[in-house]
Amino acid sequence: MEEMNTKAMYKLSYGLFVCTAVRDGKMNGCIINTAIQVASEPNTLTVAVNKANYTHDMIKDTGACNISVISTEASFDLFKHFGFQSGRDVDKFAGFPEASYKIAENGIPVITAGTNAWFSLKVKQTVDLGSHTLFICEPVAMSVLSDAGSCTYEFYQSNIKPKPEKVGTTTDGQTVWRCRICGYEYVGEELPDDFICPICKHPASDFEKVVKG
Ligand code: FE
Repeated sequence: MEEMNTKAMYKLSYGLFVCTAVRDGKMNGCIINTAIQVASEPNTLTVAVNKANYTHDMIKDTGACNISVISTEASFDLFKHFGFQSGRDVDKFAGFPEASYKIAENGIPVITAGTNAWFSLKVKQTVDLGSHTLFICEPVAMSVLSDAGSCTYEFYQSNIKPKPEKVGTTTDGQTVWRCRICGYEYVGEELPDDFICPICKHPASDFEKVVKG
């Protein structure tokens, strides 16, 4: 029997990025952990974006996006602003400080605060991966903003994400399930298999049982 310890998935290392797009004059962006250089000749970057993200549809329709590389100087607010709300419900750039972004030559914003570099990408191919679409892209512009280190997913978990308050003490002794990705808590004896985190859109497999009261 092959071992399937899914905790191995948490040993993979990732960076964190703001992925931005513009469609019909509307700017939007989301947090992704899946921007990588996958070839050098020609220089090629891929980004995988969850289909539940509004930004996903915007990239699919327009064939372009920008990637801002989040640095270790980023605040939790940056993650909350772009990661914990949907562009379907709010205009993320209406409530975002003008000093914290600029519009790149392709007309798409890049985040300039709490980031250390950005890329403008042109989509060359798309691959349907089920939950996500993989966008295979050519960089058409790139710039370095700061010498600060890049924020890895591990750094975010250890240093940026607020530590959860005391958990597992629902007054009526119910089980608490916590999203390992964003910290959202679901109260209930059983977490449905098809549960999707309302905050970060990760599936039930990314929840862990916190305590049984
Ligand atoms: Fe979550």
